Amino acid sequence: MKKVLILNSHSFSDYSCPQKYKLVNIDNLRPLKTKESFYKGTIWALFLEVHYEKIKTNSNVDVLTEVLAKANEAGLNLTLPEALVFYTVYFGYLPAWQHFDYRWKVVATESGFSKVLYEDDENVVLYEGRPDLVVLQDGVLTIVDHKTRSLKSNIPPYNNQVLGYCWGTGARHFTYNYTTWNLEGRCEYSFERESFRIPVNLIKDWEVNAISLAKRILADTEYPKVFDQCNKSFRGLYGSCPYIPLCTTVSPKHNKYIREKRYIVGEDRKSW
Ligand code: SF4
Repeated sequence: MKKVLILNSHSFSDYSCPQKYKLVNIDNLRPLKTKESFYKGTIWALFLEVHYEKIKTNSNVDVLTEVLAKANEAGLNLTLPEALVFYTVYFGYLPAWQHFDYRWKVVATESGFSKVLYEDDENVVLYEGRPDLVVLQDGVLTIVDHKTRSLKSNIPPYNNQVLGYCWGTGARHFTYNYTTWNLEGRCEYSFERESFRIPVNLIKDWEVNAISLAKRILADTEYPKVFDQCNKSFRGLYGSCPYIPLCTTVSPKHNKYIREKRYIVGEDRKSW
């Protein structure tokens, strides 16, 4: 039976440091997060998922009630006062885009894909992703990614995630749906969208690079020591890496202590 390796845009980014790839994808070690550190993006994405699903199914569901129910189902522990802050932003979002969204026919919300990237006699490599939203914009298949941000910095357009989503779904158009806000003190927010067409040759290049990376990961997984050996050469190169406290610890005893106090062993990371 063939061995199956499942990759996604996160695993490719992780592999920029093989040590990080091992910590995240093999050891399944996750930094302990505070509620605030991941709440904003997750809850806002839930609001938009419910909103566009409502449009797609032409339903009368109450968005706030549905978001609270879904958050509860997912164990997110969202309280009504917290949800009402997001609801205020949602009421700003609706008029901001109503003149534009009529051009969108919603095809799918939070719907995943899984596609064979590479196969040989012993291995199958699947590449997976779950775009936030897929629409037909004036009849053209377009992927929409909801992003929250507190700083005015746009994401580079032709990045690994965008190209992988286009490869996986066949779309050639991509839109970032930005919400910028400050929830501390006064609730200030603004909305912006950035759309672009992805040249086919970039998607082809992405596929070639992705296959080569997948082969390297397959080879490294056969000889796991490779992951450890990369540690020193990459250490400290990636300033925002959540594993810095682990990688900069010399004593094994202290390393064990930090692992237990600041990280948890999670489940296998799934794309969807
Ligand atoms: S801190 Fe540096 S060496 Fe450690 S996982 Fe992150 S990038 Fe890799």
